[in-house]
Amino acid sequence: MTIGVVGAGQLGAMMALSGYPLGLDFLFLDRSAATPAGRFAPVLSGEFTDPALLRQLAERSEVISFDWENISVEALRAATRGTRARIAPPLRALAAAQDRLSEKRTFERLGIPTTRFFPVDSRAALDRAIARIGLPGVLKTRRLGYDGKGQFVLRGLGDRERAWALIGNVPLIYEEFVPFDYEVSIIGVRGRSGDIRIYPLNRNYHADGILRLTVAPWHAPRLLRAAAQGLRRVLESFSYVGVLAIEFFVRSGRLIANEMAPRVHNSGHWTLEGACTSQFENHVRAIAGLPLGDTSALGHAAMINLIGKMPERKSLLTESGLHLHDYGKEPRHGRKLGHCTIVEASARRRDLRAARILRRLYPQLPLQP
Ligand code: AMP
Repeated sequence: MTIGVVGAGQLGAMMALSGYPLGLDFLFLDRSAATPAGRFAPVLSGEFTDPALLRQLAERSEVISFDWENISVEALRAATRGTRARIAPPLRALAAAQDRLSEKRTFERLGIPTTRFFPVDSRAALDRAIARIGLPGVLKTRRLGYDGKGQFVLRGLGDRERAWALIGNVPLIYEEFVPFDYEVSIIGVRGRSGDIRIYPLNRNYHADGILRLTVAPWHAPRLLRAAAQGLRRVLESFSYVGVLAIEFFVRSGRLIANEMAPRVHNSGHWTLEGACTSQFENHVRAIAGLPLGDTSALGHAAMINLIGKMPERKSLLTESGLHLHDYGKEPRHGRKLGHCTIVEASARRRDLRAARILRRLYPQLPLQP
């Protein structure tokens, strides 16, 4: 069976590497073959919306999936029409996650607490949004935002003009600024037959809007129950097939949903070595119609993102038990180039080790598990 994947980044690469042992083949579509997944699998290279390329992908694959959200739902739907290729996760879920407004409305519809929000399509609407939600608040582009890009924090009325000048040219959403205590995410998978498996809770540490560190399992049984319930509702409401992640703020012991990702997620990279079945393998199993694997943790994992510049390989590989993943990407400021994971027998040992590695790699970052 061939799995077609739109987007050949590191997420796609890890999907392919997890699917090959199961006897599956992969074909990617991306702007260039010089991508992380291009090191392991054939890539059709061209624009993501190119109808002829998408058609080729659909004709050569049994299932089509994607490794990032910013692709055209319409182009994908049109390309698969009349072919045997099915699309997973479902396009309805992809469409909901692509637009922060429909994403928030999905959370509301399913009774999942989320930030208060107000759509902003004009300068006057921004004033109305601030009057309704208050200050401080975060103005975000509805589409194409990631890793904190396309966002502006408004602390006072004086910030309105600058925010508007920077991102006011596209549809926006204004949401309350949440002075959260910390951030968590939950990742789960739903198979074609409707069975659901959910991973332990992840605690995530960001800097400049970019995920730097995840520790899992994060031991917070009440939060896990609430997060899993929310995730289950989303999976069921879309008759979802594949892996889905939801990110939450935690404030005073309560969850506030921030966003969802209809795909494998950076905060689940630890599952490669730290869980019985990784999120990548479970995604592939789900979309290929195979039985799902056990999502239990094998120990206490910490995953550190390697960002901007790859550290010297030797210095990491001398750490016993450390798993290095180098995506083979060109270094660029703020770019995710790789990650590394440790799995320890206790949470305390994991935290001490992760803190030590972080201090060594990023002494300027005030991050501590
Ligand atoms: P996002 O692209 O929505 O995931 O935002 C990136 C990061 O910005 C989040 O992980 C938070 O650390 C921060 N952030 C986003 N929205 C808010 C908010 N409403 N209140 C406080 N911080 C936020």
